[in-house]
Amino acid sequence: LHDKFEAEHHLEAVTLDGEHISLLVNAGLDLSTEQEIAKYCDGVGLYRTEAWFMQKGQFPTQAEQEQWYRAVLTRYHPENVVMRTLDIGGDKVLDYFNFTEENPFLGWRGIRISLDHPELLLDQLKAMLKANTGLGNLKIMLPMVSHTEEVDEALKLLEQAYFELQEEWADQFIQIEKPEIGVMLEVPSSIYLLPEWADKVDFCSVGSNDLTQYLLAVDRNNAQVADLFDPFHPSVLRVLNQVASQCQNLELPFSLCGELGGEPEGAILLIAMGYRRLSMNISTMSKVKWVLRRLKVADMEALLSECLKQSTTKQVHRLLKSFMIENE
Ligand code: PEP
Ligand code: MG
Repeated sequence: LHDKFEAEHHLEAVTLDGEHISLLVNAGLDLSTEQEIAKYCDGVGLYRTEAWFMQKGQFPTQAEQEQWYRAVLTRYHPENVVMRTLDIGGDKVLDYFNFTEENPFLGWRGIRISLDHPELLLDQLKAMLKANTGLGNLKIMLPMVSHTEEVDEALKLLEQAYFELQEEWADQFIQIEKPEIGVMLEVPSSIYLLPEWADKVDFCSVGSNDLTQYLLAVDRNNAQVADLFDPFHPSVLRVLNQVASQCQNLELPFSLCGELGGEPEGAILLIAMGYRRLSMNISTMSKVKWVLRRLKVADMEALLSECLKQSTTKQVHRLLKSFMIENE
């Protein structure tokens, strides 16, 4: 039986005043992306490659990866799939690549591991490039970048993957495409370096889960401080707003792929800030679409401007709650 949200999931994600919003899915292993609504999304805004690595008993070979990525790209073709390079460390560990740290979330994570093991990243990039031949719907995204050198090194490795592949396939007539490459904005330092990165990368996507964690210094998985972990904290909202205006000024395509975009109140504020691409868990998409189809961007903007004036998370929530009730 369809609920009221599902009954509209095949309709366009467009606000009452005609603003089209791209809704994309966050995917990993989960087969929920096979659901009916996946047909009506605008592609995959975050494909978490580590989910598949976590299921394996050892690092998958380049050929295995190629096969897997090709299946994913094919499933969503012609929509784009933003594949994120391996994002392990923190709470995501591979049984076959074990290490312990005192502060895993501040330790060896994401791009840091990939760059310390360039052979792993090269394998992954080559597998992605191979998988994309003849399809062309791949975009690549780098997790946890916090230093300019990381962007530069990763770009260099992508070039290397591309040239090595050209050599490998020199006597075959296979066209290798250079995919767009983007960075995740999830460590506060990355946001201050956007002006320098805008010419290097093709897009960026806010990871609001980690950005909230690092901005507020609150472990995203620690129950003891769970009530302090809140992306509606005024500072987080102000930073998200700043990212949107900065990207607009720099003409750098931007989106958001943290859980915040899958919350109706979050989506409303983000749209008001200027975000037009939100990537979310498939289970939240119908509801977000239903809500935004009943609102005007102008009203969302008025709400945002009130929220941005608040100094406590509680006040923000109070405003959001009454807005939702008024617009029910
Ligand atoms: C995020 O940090 O917001 C994000 C989307 O990445 P992950 O949840 O996989 O860390
Ligand atoms: Mg993250």
